[in-house]
Amino acid sequence: MSKESIGRWIFTQDGLMEGHLVVEGDEVVEICHGKAPEGSSKAIVLPAFVNAHTHIGDSFAYPAPKGTVEEIVAPPNGYKHRMLRTASRSRKIEGMRSAISTMAETGTSAFIDFREEGAGGIQMAMESADGLLVSPTLLGRPVHADASYEALDDFVAQCDGFGMSSIRDWPRDLLERASKAAKSRGKLFGLHASEILREDVDAVLDLKPDFLVHMTAASDDDLVAVAEARVPIVVCPRSNEFFGIDPRIPRLLRAGVEVALGTDNGMICRPDMLEELRAAFRLSASSGGTTPSETIRLATCSGRKVLNAVREITTEIEQTDDLVVLEMQGEDPLTEVVSAAGSARVSAVSRGGRFRRI
Ligand SMILES: [Zn+2]
Repeated sequence: MSKESIGRWIFTQDGLMEGHLVVEGDEVVEICHGKAPEGSSKAIVLPAFVNAHTHIGDSFAYPAPKGTVEEIVAPPNGYKHRMLRTASRSRKIEGMRSAISTMAETGTSAFIDFREEGAGGIQMAMESADGLLVSPTLLGRPVHADASYEALDDFVAQCDGFGMSSIRDWPRDLLERASKAAKSRGKLFGLHASEILREDVDAVLDLKPDFLVHMTAASDDDLVAVAEARVPIVVCPRSNEFFGIDPRIPRLLRAGVEVALGTDNGMICRPDMLEELRAAFRLSASSGGTTPSETIRLATCSGRKVLNAVREITTEIEQTDDLVVLEMQGEDPLTEVVSAAGSARVSAVSRGGRFRRI
């Protein structure tokens, strides 16, 4: 079988370098560094994207009406929760499957979902992901605020951990039990925090979260405390923009926080990480800016660091890694990725060395 050279550039956690893939049939047989041979496609190879925060469960309700965070997503009676209560199981699964298919086609290899609706919600998400080439990390939440430790332990045994809404939504003792149950089984405990209202950062960090989502209303001191506790923050620029919030990513990076990117609610944004990258780059300009390389790291290397708490994903590139190939037009691929490259530029994805053209 003949070998083909793909790409001219490779993005690693150390930045951009010249290099290409050697593909034979549907297999990546080598990753070469240095100048690509004549005829190699004009493309950049990146670690596949990790979408570090989704709620795929409400994808069926896309597009959401305009409103405040409270009106649209807050439990128990925001628009999202009313829709989840009334939609059929099959409609929800169809929406989730469509969302995961979008991820597969747009270069995402893994996602971390906060699933509502208790054990039934987790079950629906598992069914939705079945057979699609994206690895789900499913974080659920209990249906009852007075769930016992035994019930929480039982629940977390069936998924990858807990993905809780804000600490204001839950009794303190429930959050403490959930965190303990997740830790004792080596599962994740993730929390939304300080999205529109600043919350007590000590009360949040005392719960030993593996990562936080948003922190858009946090003070600079809060961010330093989070950085010192080595807790990554997942930001969702398009969701923030929908609600009129500035994610201020440069401020988080300056505080020393590990920042990953997520697309948040399926009813607000399609789970397309290239769109999220472009939004992150564009919105950061008003608060000091991020470089293209820093921005791409948010969607690749940093997302992997969030996931490393439960599974080993390397941030180096090897031929068996999950990769995405983007076709380029100019000679500055990093700028092109964060400012111009839409999902139509995704020409191939590779999972575990298995190369698939799109
Ligand atoms: Zn969320």
